[in-house]
Parts: sequence; C-alpha cells; structure tokens
Amino acid sequence: MTTNRTFTMIKPDAVEGKHTGAILDIIIKAGFRIVAMKLLHISSEKAGAFYEVHKERPFYKDLVKYMSSGPVVAAILEKENAVEDFRKLIGATDPAKAAPGTIRALFAKSIEANAVHGSDSNENAKIEGDFYFSMLERV
Ligand code: ATP
Ligand code: MG
Repeated sequence: MTTNRTFTMIKPDAVEGKHTGAILDIIIKAGFRIVAMKLLHISSEKAGAFYEVHKERPFYKDLVKYMSSGPVVAAILEKENAVEDFRKLIGATDPAKAAPGTIRALFAKSIEANAVHGSDSNENAKIEGDFYFSMLERV
C-alpha cells in the first residue's frame, strides 16, 4: 500500500497567505485522493523531529522555527506513483527554480517558506504519515 501514497504539509506561509483552498484544489484535480487530513500547529520539538535528517544543515534552526510558526495542513495522499508525481506537482525546493505552474512556482515565497512539503521516497512517505496520523484517522 505504501507505494501509492505520499505525505504532504501545506506550510505556515501558504496557510497564512490563504492559499490552502487553491493548493488543495490543484492536488485533488491532479488526481490525488485525500486519505487523511488535519490542520495543526506543531511545536518546535515536533518540527525538529520531523526534519531531523537536516539537523546538521545550516538552515535547520530557522526551518524548525518557521515550521512551528503557525498552523499547517497535513495530509496523506493516494495516487499511482504518488511520491514522484507529487514532487513533480510541487516543483523544485527553490521557487525560483520551480517549473511554471507547479505549486511552489505559484505560491512559495522563498527557498525556506516554500508553501508545501512532499515526501521524497516511499519509505519516508510511510514514516511521515505515521508520524502525523493514527490508523483511525485514515479513510
Ligand atoms: P520538503 O522536504 O519540505 O518537501 P524539499 O525536499 O524540496 O522540501 P529539503 O532539502 O528536504 O527540500 O529541505 C527541507 C526544507 O528545508 C525545504 O523545503 C525548505 O523549507 C528548507 N530549506 C531547504 N534548503 C534550504 C536553504 N538552502 N535555505 C533555507 N531553507 C532551506
Ligand atoms: Mg525533503
């Protein structure tokens, strides 16, 4: 089941900027089914744990502060080839390099405040989905 699922967050800048509806519309129309979804304001501890892989990177401290700065919308999405297709839909990390029409090209403010998260592998999609959602919260 994990091969056709990915995990996403609409990040604080995009929620604050009132882009939640537009982003969900793009995701749904691109053929992703929402398996689980919630709005939550994560603590810096939880944000730090989520981005633990980047602990040694220079931007880690700022990233944790930013991801815990306001509410995010977390979701598990299902589609054939979900991880790869979703990364294509969101575009490059740096919005200046993101392909036209991608979610980051449309809504990201900067390389840090880049509107959305998308899992980078099937393995991480499962880990990240399990981090945010219990089995009862999935349909
Ligand atoms: P995400 O994991 O959120 O989907 P990504 O996989 O495109 O993003 P990563 O390399 O995993 O990019 O970086 C995680 C997040 O850290 C980025 O989405 C961005 O918010 C932030 N980030 C990455 N590189 C930089 C940087 N050079 N300066 C500031 N923030 C950065
Ligand atoms: Mg990443």
